Amino acid sequence: MCAAHAPIRVLSPGVAERIAAGEVIERPSSVVKELVENSLDAGATEIAVILEDGGKSLIEIIDNGHGMTPENLALCVQHHATSKLSSLEDLDRIMTLGFRGEALPSIAAVSELTLLSRPFGGDTAFELKASTPGEAGSTSQPQRVTFGHFLNSPHGTRIQGRGLFSQIPARLKFLKSQGAEVAQVREWIERLAIAHPKVGFRLVSDDRTLLNLRAPQPNQDESVRISQILSDGEDYPVVHTSVNTEVGDIRVFWLQGMSSPQTRKLIQVVNGRALRDRLLQQAMLAPFRQTLLPGRFPSAVLHIQMNPAELDVNVHPTKTEVRFLNPGKVFHEVESAISAMIAKQGAPAFASASSCSSTFQFDSVPLMPRQETESAYSPRLGVQSTPSATLFSNQPVDKNPLKSGRLVGMLFNTYLLFDLGEEAALVDQHAAHERIRYEQLRKRVFQKSLEGDLNFQSQTLLIPEAVRFPLESRTIIESRLSWLNSLGFEVEIFGEDTLLFRSIPIEWGMEMLRTRLKNLIDRVLAADIHSTSELFHDETVFETLASEACHSSVRAGDRLERMEAEKLVDLLFQCEHPWNCPHGRPTVVKVSQDRFEEWFQRRV
Ligand code: ADP
Ligand code: MG
Repeated sequence: MCAAHAPIRVLSPGVAERIAAGEVIERPSSVVKELVENSLDAGATEIAVILEDGGKSLIEIIDNGHGMTPENLALCVQHHATSKLSSLEDLDRIMTLGFRGEALPSIAAVSELTLLSRPFGGDTAFELKASTPGEAGSTSQPQRVTFGHFLNSPHGTRIQGRGLFSQIPARLKFLKSQGAEVAQVREWIERLAIAHPKVGFRLVSDDRTLLNLRAPQPNQDESVRISQILSDGEDYPVVHTSVNTEVGDIRVFWLQGMSSPQTRKLIQVVNGRALRDRLLQQAMLAPFRQTLLPGRFPSAVLHIQMNPAELDVNVHPTKTEVRFLNPGKVFHEVESAISAMIAKQGAPAFASASSCSSTFQFDSVPLMPRQETESAYSPRLGVQSTPSATLFSNQPVDKNPLKSGRLVGMLFNTYLLFDLGEEAALVDQHAAHERIRYEQLRKRVFQKSLEGDLNFQSQTLLIPEAVRFPLESRTIIESRLSWLNSLGFEVEIFGEDTLLFRSIPIEWGMEMLRTRLKNLIDRVLAADIHSTSELFHDETVFETLASEACHSSVRAGDRLERMEAEKLVDLLFQCEHPWNCPHGRPTVVKVSQDRFEEWFQRRV
């Protein structure tokens, strides 16, 4: 019988439940997110997440929140049962993370749920077992049990979900590898931990502690946690800015100098709600387009505190996105706050000896022995590094802040060393030169395009360079050949599928030329544009052009004369974004005299 004539049947409640639950619960990280949000709503200050087999066998959350009475425990797994909302108007000013009353019944529909809770002030805990709502015998009655340890608190809740999706093979088969699922869980815990910096979080997977974010000391601020999370347990300095706008209070934290190929470390928090919001993510990325290459993303946190009435949090079943009453304005304010921060920020100042090791090494200087390698997430920062002083060292806009200092030499033929009186600055000559080249080239190209002057200086190659392209792209190549010629290349089609470069722009060096030309061709082919004038508005083509040219820059290991070195630093600080190379690495790093004194134990 063909499907068109199949009779309509009403699905059994069990099947319907499981299908509906799929909207809220996609994978282990969705369970964790919902349960941790419940713990946060219950006022927990400590939350532990325990996984077995990537969450497939067990997801357990323990909190020291206010717990549930046996009456509430019996109700909480029912649909639309919530203690957080009572009327539709409440939605307009919702301050709790949950409000739908859908998480627990959805989790019960896709796993075997055991809840254990002891309310604040109650004399005992109660346990309840629940599975697919709507099926007979799906929920037990709360049973009195003796259990009094909710992370050292007499009250709290422990929720265990076993056999996630074991009844739903279609879902089970879409789960990724155990490692990938655990990584997702970790990512969400990190987002939630940034939104709630005063709460301690722990993640244990198959008996291994992956995260241990302790509640901060009273004198520590949230930047400590943000820095730990953004730099994966290290404590690189974060740059910070905050502005009051018409939209609300906007704060941004940026792990300057680092970039990653993923958007995992781009975190948005709106009114305490950890999100993965597309609009906000785009607004965060826009200002970095000048600073980072295509395909590289900054590590940054955006906090917005705004009037809840201008926000709809009820637009996404998993509540990972929100809708703004005025999205254009929000976008604009976020973008300009971040642009201003990038424009005025200073060189990264290293906060701890251990963090130096991954960027550069002082082979001749004894580093402080690194303690606590295992628990890299413990708030080691609090011990010695005065985070608010070093982490937020926003420099005033100064053309060349190293001018007042003295160039004392060069380390490893790579780093220029400046004595600035109370600190030392190291300039990575290669990164600096890349930045200079990149901006010069960009400027020149844009200037020319404005003037309608499309003649670029080129240099003739002694031996022409042949680069193949996919045969099916020949028509596009033919139509775009004139662009390449207008950018300073002299190039023609040779045979079926080869481009022959006879000249290249004057800025380009020879090293790995073929690879760089190939990258450029790939980018030109991928560009979604139809005319030469449109080409001049396609930033990614120019970014590729500029960054491919950058390879001709001064290499680490090239010896520079004093005059050349000083000139290099001068030129660097004429750049729009002097503090990073176009690939996002720092160009300048500062080390305070205090730090030297610690190394030599002149200070206690
Ligand atoms: P929502 O969070 O939208 O209210 P849930 O299904 O997630 O819906 O939870 C239902 C109710 O169960 C909550 O409103 C809350 O009263 C209670 N609850 C859930 N988890 C906890 C917890 N960890 N501690 C205390 N109460 C909880
Ligand atoms: Mg909830």
